[in-house]
Amino acid sequence: MKYCPRCATLLEMQVLNERPRLVCPRCEFIYWNNPLPVAGAAVIDERGHILLARRAVAPLRGWWNLPAGFMEWGESAEEAACREVREETGIEVLITGYLTAAGVAREEQPWASITYVFYYARPIGGRLRAGDDADDAAFFPPDALPEQIAFSSNRKALACWEEDRSRGRLIALGYASSASGP
Ligand SMILES: [Zn+2]
Repeated sequence: MKYCPRCATLLEMQVLNERPRLVCPRCEFIYWNNPLPVAGAAVIDERGHILLARRAVAPLRGWWNLPAGFMEWGESAEEAACREVREETGIEVLITGYLTAAGVAREEQPWASITYVFYYARPIGGRLRAGDDADDAAFFPPDALPEQIAFSSNRKALACWEEDRSRGRLIALGYASSASGP
């Protein structure tokens, strides 16, 4: 961003809250560049397999990820996760619990500042069919996941799922969170 979105004055770099920020010298607009929330889901079926989508778009086209996407204005993170699963895979889901959140390093994703929130979900309908920015979608058993998993956030979510399974948490198998816990 170069010009103030409010008054079109050239922005200046200033250090605010210990970080360099673009600030408007005329109207005092501050470009904070805060992360945008992305919501996604680890959809686990009754066999304990996880739903992944293959990316049809850059970056990392052809790599696999958990269905996820940017939240829309007025949408909850849970609603966004369900919508993204439906759009990318055709599957209707019910959120069963929280999985993990993951920030993204600027070095890894310089094109956008993002924070992921992942939920557990289980399928309740729909038909498997890749769509939106995915060109394939499939359920994978935990011991046969694709090698190319896009983004450290997604690898972290899969690692958390593995840890939950090893602890015997039912939520990691797609059951409701009320039935889980040690
Ligand atoms: Zn301004």
